[in-house]
Amino acid sequence: MQTNDFDEFRERTLKKLGIEETNSGIFAGKWLPRSGKNIYTSISPVDGKVNASVWLADRGQYEEAVNQSIKAFEEWRSIPAPRRGEIIKALGDVLAKNKKDLGALVTLEAGKTTSEGEGEIQEMIDVAYFASGLSRQLYGFTMASERPDHRLYEQWLPLGPIAVISAFNFPSSVWSWNAMVAAVCGDTVVWKPSTKASLAAVGVMKIMTEELERLGAPQIFSLVASRGSEGGEWISNDRRIPLVSFTGSTATGQKIYENVARRIGRPILELGGNNCSIVSSRADMNLALKGVAFGALATAGQRCTSTRRVVVQDDIYDEFVSRLKDIYSKVKIGNPRQEGVLVGPLIDREAVRTFTDAVREAVSQGGKLIFGGEEIKVPGLEGGNYVRPALIEAKPDMEITKRETFGPLLYLFRYRTIEEAVKIHNSVPQGLSSAIFTTDLREEEYFLSYRGSDCGLANVNTSTAGAEIGGAFGGEKETGYGRESGSDSWKAYMRRQTVTINHGRDLPLSQGVRFDV
Ligand code: NAD
Repeated sequence: MQTNDFDEFRERTLKKLGIEETNSGIFAGKWLPRSGKNIYTSISPVDGKVNASVWLADRGQYEEAVNQSIKAFEEWRSIPAPRRGEIIKALGDVLAKNKKDLGALVTLEAGKTTSEGEGEIQEMIDVAYFASGLSRQLYGFTMASERPDHRLYEQWLPLGPIAVISAFNFPSSVWSWNAMVAAVCGDTVVWKPSTKASLAAVGVMKIMTEELERLGAPQIFSLVASRGSEGGEWISNDRRIPLVSFTGSTATGQKIYENVARRIGRPILELGGNNCSIVSSRADMNLALKGVAFGALATAGQRCTSTRRVVVQDDIYDEFVSRLKDIYSKVKIGNPRQEGVLVGPLIDREAVRTFTDAVREAVSQGGKLIFGGEEIKVPGLEGGNYVRPALIEAKPDMEITKRETFGPLLYLFRYRTIEEAVKIHNSVPQGLSSAIFTTDLREEEYFLSYRGSDCGLANVNTSTAGAEIGGAFGGEKETGYGRESGSDSWKAYMRRQTVTINHGRDLPLSQGVRFDV
């Protein structure tokens, strides 16, 4: 695809989604007009050209959005959950209709390949349908009471207007993991997208709000595109918002956590990962190579679950590394719209600097750079942010290997025994995703036992990246707190009430306590 093809693609995508040159980034029951000074210009990482602009919320508009969310909550919570589920199902349907265009917008703004951009929207559809089914399954337990003529049970009630603060790398799906599930639970949602992905949020919200209006449903979703240091602060300190679900770096998450904790609010924190794959000499090597390459290279290493470290058993290390290097040398980097391209750009200039600095630092700490690590220029897309993915032979005690570098940088380590491999695997402060490639039952079970992976996600013979929405998603240690998306994650978006009903004529007390008046 030539540069002007990309220009055409940009124009076509924006037009189809009704995105103008400048757009409101604040939805509070209606799109709000510009009032503050702040404006964000979305620049495509693909070619460095302007996509469009979004004006950002000021404090007054933030108030409007939260007030609208509180008002909508009062109506929404009174609608029976299965009916809420039908509305969320309709949102899934409308996302399905717009999958290609919304996926294209993700490509424009975040630089994802076509298949990954559309995959992101598919994730939103999947979670909408999942949530719709869930709307008939918000089960509470009934317990046997120790007192005669008493009934004891738990019920789950809507929590309130909740907030979602999302990261740039999953500009819309992370919101949906929270928003769709929270909505069937009866909550309304205030969304502060990553400033760097404000346009994708505008595109999604246009479709969501139009569909809600068509259905005659309350406007349950609000948008407050804003600078991180403003919107993030407003939300995390806002006592009217009982739950803040934050996705982003550990450093920012820490600030959010402190603010939310100070007011005894509830957090969900989905923070940085430093994910590792163990490759045993008993692995299916072809499978392991594919799994590691996908994990390290997909989304140009900008997934929270990207593979950043690989620990390979000594006797296959040389062969594995040589074949991985071969894959790296053949992988196509460039225009994410182009057929066959697997590695697109990094999000911005700062990300390129962070990546090349990390490569230099790793070498200065004793690492051996065996492939890539430099910025590259893609012909016709000179303004884009492309790098050649790096392979670095490293020692597990190198300080830099304990940090998340948000790009395609893979550290390679050797191991002899499974115990040693797991020790290296677990030797970092983060705990999001993990993988082992082996056909040995004992190794696999060791990895999955209490002695094994210390992460929230454990994979066997598949990549650290690419989770399904049906499982509970989240991490341990510095990766944060709580779970999102599938399984019983819905419980985080509701309040649990334990109910005791006395339907007798006496007042028996629990634990046999007597109080005769
Ligand atoms: P980031 O921390 O820079 O930004 C995340 C969000 O916080 C954005 O909405 C941003 O506008 C806001 N923000 C920025 N500065 C702020 C401040 N001072 N106060 C309050 N809010 C602020 O993260 P990013 O660069 O957008 O995303 C990449 C990071 O997110 C990586 O560390 C990645 O691992 C992590 N991530 C984690 C998961 C997960 O599920 N664990 C998923 C996706 C991304």
